[in-house]
Formats: sequence, C-alpha cells, structure tokens
Amino acid sequence: MSERPRLTVLSGPSGVGKSTVVAHMRKEHPEVWLSVSATTRKPRPGERHGVHYFFVTDEEMDKLIANGELLEWAEFAGNRYGTPRAAVLERLENGEAVLLEIDLQGARQVRESMSDARLVFLAPPSWEELVRRLTGRGTESPEVIERRLEAARTELAAEPEFDMTLVNTSVEDVARELLALMDVV
Ligand code: ADP
Ligand code: 5GP
Repeated sequence: MSERPRLTVLSGPSGVGKSTVVAHMRKEHPEVWLSVSATTRKPRPGERHGVHYFFVTDEEMDKLIANGELLEWAEFAGNRYGTPRAAVLERLENGEAVLLEIDLQGARQVRESMSDARLVFLAPPSWEELVRRLTGRGTESPEVIERRLEAARTELAAEPEFDMTLVNTSVEDVARELLALMDVV
C-alpha cells in the first residue's frame, strides 16, 4: 500500500533559482504538480495568467483572504502572494506529488497547518552569487532588487527552521534530489 504523498514546500531567497529548478523538474516529470499562486504583483514579460500566477487586483486578493480560500499568504517585497487551498488539497487527496514554491512566511504557515509537510530550503552557493543571479535576471529595478536582498538576509537566517537544505550549484543536481525526495523517479 502506498503512503499518501507529503506536501513538499520549496523556499529560499529571491533569485536563488527556485523557478529554474522547478521548471527543470517539470520538463522531465510533468506529473509533478506545482500549485499556481495568486499574486498582486504585475506580470513579468512572458508570464501568463493561470500558468505562472493568477494575477489579481488588491480587491480580489482581499476577497480570497476574507473567504478563507488561501492555504497561506504573505506580503513579500511590496506585493501579496497566496496559495489557493482547494486545488492543493484535491491533488493531495488524489495521491499526486504536490509542490509549493513559496516564501519563508508562507512556509512557516504551512508548517503550522500541515504538520507532515516537508520543508526544503534552497540556498545559494554564496551571497555574491545570489546578488549576481538576482541582478543578472534583469527583471527588477535596482530598488526592487535592494528590497529583495533585504528580505534575503532574513530568509537565509531562517534556514535552520527547514527540514533540509539543498545548495543550488547545479540545477540538474538539485532537480534530481528533489524528485527523489518526492518519490518521483
Ligand atoms: P527564483 O525563482 O528563486 O527567484 P530564478 O529561478 O528566477 O530564481 O533564478 C534567478 C536567476 O538565476 C535566473 O537568471 C536563472 O537563470 C539563474 N540561475 C538559477 N539557477 C542557477 C544555477 N544553478 N547556476 C547559475 N544560474 C542559475
Ligand atoms: P516572485 O515575485 O519572484 O515571483 O516571487 C517572490 C517571492 O514570493 C518568492 O520567494 C516566491 O517563492 C514567493 N511566493 C510565490 N508564490 C507564493 C505564495 O503563494 N505564497 C507565499 N507565501 N509566497 C509566494
């Protein structure tokens, strides 16, 4: 008899490579289900509604929160982000491998509400490399980068709260380790 899969939460500072790792995992294993979050942030070039995020207004976000439709939510660097609850619970009930890519505050909330969730911290090889990646992505203004680096200091300090840490030196290696952890091989 197979166990009900645990929820896997991937967190780590902005720019560490979370989206890149997840995209790599899902390219080879599309059966890994990634929750699509709601956010009040504006789309980056190439980001699509319903695929990368559900892009919502402040009023829509207020409603999602008031109606208890989010499993967790947080304000991050000036925008709000949240995980729609129903879709996650449905997938877990179906026995699917479920992955959340969320910030530290969200990871803490999931730990409270779903005690069997597995919390994985994605760490950069060094602070300098994190700055290089965040800047090199070229999607944020210098002010926003500064804000995200500020948040990164707090996130890095919280690493011991997680069940395990993976250092993102090689996207391929980290993706393989996560897949093994989620029993997707
Ligand atoms: P996050 O989702 O954590 O904010 P991204 O996935 O957008 O981060 O990655 C930030 C930048 O770092 C991107 O330009 C990406 O191509 C690059 N990157 C991700 N992983 C690696 C890696 N292992 N080595 C070098 N560059 C990487
Ligand atoms: P970005 O704006 O770069 O896409 O995401 C910024 C931060 O918000 C990242 O750390 C990302 O993991 C986090 N994030 C994305 N979706 C959610 C969510 O639903 N809940 C929480 N708490 N954080 C999220």
